[in-house]
Amino acid sequence: MILVLGIDAATWEVVTPNLDGLPSFRKLTELGQAEVMVLQEKPVSPSIWCGMFSGKTFEEHRHDSFVRNGRLVRREEIEVEFIWDILAREGRRVKALNVPFVVPPYSYGVDFKPVGFGLPTNEKEWQEELERVTEKVKELLGEKLDLLIAVYTLLDRVQHFHWGEECVLEWYQKLDQKLGELLFASGFLGDKQNKLIIISDHGFCSFGEAKVQTLPLKSEEGELKGDHHENALLITVNLDHPIKRPQDVFFALRKELG
Ligand SMILES: [Zn+2]
Repeated sequence: MILVLGIDAATWEVVTPNLDGLPSFRKLTELGQAEVMVLQEKPVSPSIWCGMFSGKTFEEHRHDSFVRNGRLVRREEIEVEFIWDILAREGRRVKALNVPFVVPPYSYGVDFKPVGFGLPTNEKEWQEELERVTEKVKELLGEKLDLLIAVYTLLDRVQHFHWGEECVLEWYQKLDQKLGELLFASGFLGDKQNKLIIISDHGFCSFGEAKVQTLPLKSEEGELKGDHHENALLITVNLDHPIKRPQDVFFALRKELG
């Protein structure tokens, strides 16, 4: 089974200096290949997640905003085939949950209700998303699928509001604990047949330092403190095909399951 765990906005900027307090990340960096994936395209979430699972560049898929003409873009309006569409047609067992290229995030073959319409905005919702995604993934790991894709979105929201504050590391620690449950306690990585990709769609930095401003400084929830950075996080375990850009996730999966 191949598991792709997306962590929206996860960055080595927070992980690397704090590996002592992030035991799952530490084990993963020792066990697998840890890399910085430097984005050559605009670090906007809808476009990156869309390209990652369709193999298309922005020029090909043209999807870079959750909203178009004053309303939310739907999956049907994006003219691409995703990896799950293709593999399912070929008879593979594939499921995907909470993939945030649209709002609310998209799920395939899974009944999953995104927390806060996919835009969790407070501690209660962040905790809820952590638990809801983790529990669903645990359940699906038991199904012996060929491919499972799941995405946590909370760190993006935490960092937009709290970049530079101590609570950011606390949320990484809570996530780290969930990674431990999913990957180590479950025995998933004990099985050498299993393959893992952990990936973010972009990194993070202080609001004024970002090359591309992705949100207005002031939002309904208050002033933003952080914004997207082009250095994304990537960890792979047992994967034979290199990932240098988001689209390579699609091609690696295609080759692994071809
Ligand atoms: Zn993002």
